[in-house]
Order: sequence, then C-alpha cells, then structure tokens
Amino acid sequence: TVLVSARDHKNLFLCVQQIFINNEWHTSLKGKTFQTFNPATGVKICEVEEADKADVDKAVKAARAASQRGSPWRRMDVSSRGRLLHKLADLMERDRALLATMETIDTGKPFLHSFFIDLDGSIKTLRYYAGWADKIHGKTMPVDDTFMCFTRHEPVGVCGAIIPWNFPLLMFMWKVAPALCCGNTVVIKPAEQTPLTALHVGSLIKEAGFPPGVVNIVPGFGPTAGAAIARHMGIDKVAFTGSTKVGQLIKEAAAKSNLKRVTLELGGKNPCIVFADSDLQLAVEETQKGAFFNQGQCCTAASRVFVEEQVYEEFVRRSVESAKSIVIGDPLDPRTSHGPQIDQKQFDKILELIDSGKKEGAKLECGGVAMEDTGLYIQPTVFSQVKDHMRIAKEEIFGPVQCIFRFKSQQEAIERANSTEYGLASAVFTRNLDRALSVSAALETGTVW
Ligand code: NAD
Repeated sequence: TVLVSARDHKNLFLCVQQIFINNEWHTSLKGKTFQTFNPATGVKICEVEEADKADVDKAVKAARAASQRGSPWRRMDVSSRGRLLHKLADLMERDRALLATMETIDTGKPFLHSFFIDLDGSIKTLRYYAGWADKIHGKTMPVDDTFMCFTRHEPVGVCGAIIPWNFPLLMFMWKVAPALCCGNTVVIKPAEQTPLTALHVGSLIKEAGFPPGVVNIVPGFGPTAGAAIARHMGIDKVAFTGSTKVGQLIKEAAAKSNLKRVTLELGGKNPCIVFADSDLQLAVEETQKGAFFNQGQCCTAASRVFVEEQVYEEFVRRSVESAKSIVIGDPLDPRTSHGPQIDQKQFDKILELIDSGKKEGAKLECGGVAMEDTGLYIQPTVFSQVKDHMRIAKEEIFGPVQCIFRFKSQQEAIERANSTEYGLASAVFTRNLDRALSVSAALETGTVW
C-alpha cells in the first residue's frame, strides 16, 4: 500500500516539511523554503522550510534549556532513557515500510536496500545504544594516602550533528542514538538533498515521549545552517560526516569559536587486496558489492581492488560479467538493485572522473556512460589496468566505478594500498589465515575486513 501511495508523493510528505524544535513544527524565520527532488525522475517531491542561522540559534536555545541540570531530561533515570530509545526503535519498526519508501524516493536507493539495510541498521543502532544507557560506568583509582579518587561520566551538553545524503536515516541514528544514550541534547542538520526521513523521525521522537528540546532538526544548507552549527558558542560538540574539504571547515570553525569537541568521518579510497589463493568467486562478488552498493556512494566503497597477477585476467573477466548483470531501474521496483546518483553535481563529477580514466589510459571494460532515459543513472563501470598515478586511483569518485590494479608481491600490495592520504577501510581476500592477519595488521586503515 505504501509503495502504491508513494507514487502520489503529496500525501506521503504532508506532515514532514518543517523545522523541528522543542517537539513542535516551525516555519523558517527568514520565510525561506527549499525543494527536494526524486533523483530517479528529477521530479520535485516537496518544499521544505529552510533553517538558517537564526533558526539554528532557536534550536540551540531549546537544546540548552533541555540539557540544564534539573530539566526533565537530566533528571530522567538512565534506564528510562534506554526505554525511550527502545520506544523510538519500536515506532520505526511500525513505520518501517513508510520510512523505507521515503528514503528511496528522496535518495534513489533501491527500496529493498532501504528496507533491509538502512532501516534494519537504524533500528539496531537505536537498540544497541538503548542497552548502553545504564551501563556507562566510571572508575575508581587507587591513589596515595587518604585520598579517594573516582570518575563520573557527565553528558557533554548540546551536540551538533551535520550529516550527508548517502545514508540519511542511518547517519541520523549513528549521531543521535549515542548522544541521547549519554544524556546529551542534539541539534542535527540533515543534508539538503535528503531531509525527509529525518523529519518523519522528528514526529516519532515526539510520539515516543522524549521531552521537548532533546532533539531538534534543522533542515537547510551547509554554508548557512551547517556553518552556524560548527561555529555556535552554545554547542559543546559537533559530529560531522561528509567531504574532507568541509571537515576541515568544521574543525576550523570549532577552533575559532569555543573549541567545541569535534568528531569527523570523512572520505576514503579503500584498498581491497585479492590474493591468488582466495575464493575467487567470493572475492569477485564481495568487491563488486563494495564498489557498487548504494550506487558507489559510500565512504567505505571498495574503490581500489588490487589483484595478484596469477588470477588477474580471470578476476577481471568475472567482474565484468557480474557488473553487466546488475539490474538498473526504478528504485521503487523490488527487482531493481541499482538506482540513480543523488544529484546533478555528483553525476557530473563521476562522469568527469570516468573520462579522466579513459584519457589517462585505463582500460574501460564495461559501463562508463550514463543511461539514456531520465534520471541520474550511471552504468556500473569497470576499469582494468589502472595505474596508481591516475586520478581514478587517487580521488574519491563516490560513484559506481570499480578500479582494478595488478600486483606481483605481498609487500608491493601493502605499500601501494597504504600509499594514499586516506585511511578509512580496507579488505584482504585470502584462504591463508597467517597472511590475513599479518596483512590486515600492516594496512593503515581504521577498519580492515
Ligand atoms: P559535503 O561535505 O558538502 O556535505 C555533507 C554535509 O555537510 C551536508 O549536510 C552539507 O549541507 C554540509 N555542509 C556543506 N558545507 C558546509 C559548511 N561549509 N559548513 C557546515 N556544513 C556544511 O558533501 P557533498 O558536497 O554532498 O559531497 C561531496 C563529496 O563528499 C562526495 O563526492 C564524497 O566524496 C564526499 N562525501 C562523503 C560522505 C561520507 O559518507 N563520508 C558522504 C557524502 C559525501
């Protein structure tokens, strides 16, 4: 039913288009709105009230009041905080199909991915942090003489959050759930491309019974609402996920304002090393998922695949076959596994980088072009014979492009994998457990699969 009614967007988004402050819906103080589009069709979904600096000030005021000592939120038992997070998770379970449909229409990601991956991950994140709420302990430390020394964890205060468009709901939960679990209050700005599921969750936060001001949602643009969060004197911490360039701006704004704490989650150019002794079919399938999942719009995308020379040709052959079998289409159709890119800017950037790969001499094995009909679709693209100096080997493409490199020795693979300014994630494929452990220890990334 939701899928059918989703085709008439008007009803679906009727109640979720405003700024959420103090558990109430507000219009923009400057009287501005912005549009959000369905990337699969280019059709406008709806207008959203646009938060700017003054609206962020209003949200921070509400969040500060809610985080004062003695407020209902600060007086709440930690176990009750956990129960509220579970309640929110329950409401998201109830609205799961609706939220997945909204997410698909706003981002272009296939419905089944929204339903099974984004919603599942969001709900589980809430339940995970719900469980932590009454298990955050301090320590006692033995000290000299007659002194007694112990630590007590206190909330940081008001947490600002700025999130991107690739996983709007999941990123919302990754920021909001841990902050709430620890008794903080939140001012969060969803990405301007994808504000809708965050706003629906605003209504669920109210329904769950969170006190007013605990979560405030300010849809708007980066240089206005986002920058206002980063430099706000009333915000104690800011968490950001997005581009490295904006991450630098956030840290600078934090330093120049009140030295608020900063957590950044930025880009990646993630190496996968496939050894000749690996289960080759598994390596082909997993590296392709890594490259093409979410239309390649993942900070942890498998964007550099290093394959040992003995199995290189066969790996490329199977990868091309697999890329060609991907079903591209209407993201609301459950058969679709690949949707459009998020917007024109990303679409153009990806095609420009694909072009640079061709010009710099990488071999285009398949894809490499946009689909001809409407929407921002780019065919899953495989390049072989990629060299480390090429732009497609160094820059974050954030699109459905798999780059395959050849290597001869383990040491060479490790050195080339580490030779990047990024350090987010990596993967190793081998059946040799010694090698899996030693190579993963040598890879300079936060996560190794
Ligand atoms: P972006 O960094 O510009 O946007 C991410 C968020 O930051 C959005 O909410 C945006 O409104 C906000 N923002 C933008 N400028 C800001 C500013 N001056 N101050 C405060 N907030 C600001 O990312 P983008 O332009 O949407 O995408 C560009 C590139 O960033 C992508 O091609 C990709 O390489 C990378 N990216 C990474 C992730 C990730 O998950 N790490 C997500 C999205 C984009």
